Amino acid sequence: MRDDNCIFCKIANGDIPSKVLYEDDEFKVILDVGPATKGHALILPKNHYPNLYELPDDTASKVMLLAKRMASRMTEKLGCDGFNLVQNNGKTAGQTVFHFHLHLIPRYEDDGQTLGWKPLEMAQEELEEVRKTIVGE
Ligand code: 5GP
Ligand code: ZN
Repeated sequence: MRDDNCIFCKIANGDIPSKVLYEDDEFKVILDVGPATKGHALILPKNHYPNLYELPDDTASKVMLLAKRMASRMTEKLGCDGFNLVQNNGKTAGQTVFHFHLHLIPRYEDDGQTLGWKPLEMAQEELEEVRKTIVGE
């Protein structure tokens, strides 16, 4: 399952070179070419799934297990102080490559990066409306 126009299909399947941290039959983990911090990496499934919604359940499970293993190893080897997992879906959410990937971002004190959001003020009633919308009540 590959998309001939997809750069991550080409990277994951070895047609374009990358800095590989880990590889098995289903996944490649590579260094991001424009890292947020030292060691910023991406987990790529070798099959082409555009986003989280399209990711099969068994692949999703394996991605999280792999993320856990990679984060532990990278923390040990890089001596980072914290770790972010980031996964963008859709242009509005910041996705720029439409082949599912999970960012592994080591964090260092004073790394100068801000991965976050500005908390909104939301009343309890409004929170309850949101809850009902999602739950379907
Ligand atoms: P997104 O914004 O879709 O969540 O993340 C895409 C990521 O892919 C960006 O962090 C970007 O730096 C990285 N990226 C884009 N093209 C390449 C490439 O050719 N090689 C590597 N290693 N990373 C890439
Ligand atoms: Zn692809």
